[in-house]
Amino acid sequence: MDHVTSRPSASQADQSRHAWTEPGVEDLGGGVYRIPLPLPGDSLRAVNVYAIAGDDGVDLIDAGMALEQARERLTEALGQLGYGLGDIRNFFITHIHQDHYTLAVQLRTTLSGTITLGEGERINMEAIRNVEAGRNELGFIEMLPAMGAPELADRVRGFVAGHAGRYRRLRWSDPDRWLADGAQLDLRSRTLRAIHTPGHTRGHVVFHDEAAAALFAGDHVLPHITPSVGFQPAIDTLALRDYLGSLRLMLTLPDSRLLPAHGPVCESTHARVNELLAHHETRLEQTLAAASGGPVTALRAAEAIPWTRRQRKFADLDPMSQVLAIGETAAHLEVLVIRGQLVRHASPEGVDTYKLPVG
Ligand SMILES: [Zn+2]
Repeated sequence: MDHVTSRPSASQADQSRHAWTEPGVEDLGGGVYRIPLPLPGDSLRAVNVYAIAGDDGVDLIDAGMALEQARERLTEALGQLGYGLGDIRNFFITHIHQDHYTLAVQLRTTLSGTITLGEGERINMEAIRNVEAGRNELGFIEMLPAMGAPELADRVRGFVAGHAGRYRRLRWSDPDRWLADGAQLDLRSRTLRAIHTPGHTRGHVVFHDEAAAALFAGDHVLPHITPSVGFQPAIDTLALRDYLGSLRLMLTLPDSRLLPAHGPVCESTHARVNELLAHHETRLEQTLAAASGGPVTALRAAEAIPWTRRQRKFADLDPMSQVLAIGETAAHLEVLVIRGQLVRHASPEGVDTYKLPVG
């Protein structure tokens, strides 16, 4: 056979990269099932809900987004496993982002399932309330002027206003239970331990099943993409420092199967954690190089480094991706300050610039 045709084409490679988003139920063994639910837009495409089957009900890790299509897909999938929505006992949510949390809140209005969320997310819930009441803007917009990007803040305000209908329809209310770090969840068939892994959001938790050597990782460790850090309703300038600490924490646990919220199940959590740690060290070097020529804002540094796995220019990203990119850059600059490799200076107008320490 011709060697050219035997190689997978770009579109085939793309197809296999997205194979995990195909509707259905994946049996992972031991009564655990992966159920991908749809998301709008084609950046993340889908979110995995994990169902843990029990004799008198089913427990879910993450719930998906409050969308009609997602609710239908979940109903169908649970039906295949012999359950109805009324059989959901618990929604164990890894973090407050809408694609993980909001379907649980919507279903709770008609069903009896109990929702738990890491207690570190209280501050984000409070920030959401403040935004709803008009007391604050979303943290990721409010922080942009200090990062040297007031014009982008204006553009993103416009974008958020354009999607206001969708955001208003999402219900944000407290979980039934805030989980403390280390909480043991006894599901009869197994015991999960909630481990606080701040970084992606302040109160992110992963659920560790030590006996089954499985980690329900939420967005903390993703197989194909690097999770955003600190993109959340409350401002968090130390998100990357916390995230790197939460990654290293995973290496102190025995290695386990990785059950991520976006992407396929993988055999080794440690292998991916090591890749993510190496990725951030490279980004820290690139960010340091971008700041070495003189004082830079997070915006200027973001413009100097390549983005996404396609190495795109900052100027070619859409506004929401630019917000993520500036936030990432600021988070890396702050880690370089903590490490003593850069110093930060705040102007009287409140704009932060970074440069090498003198001498
Ligand atoms: Zn998330």
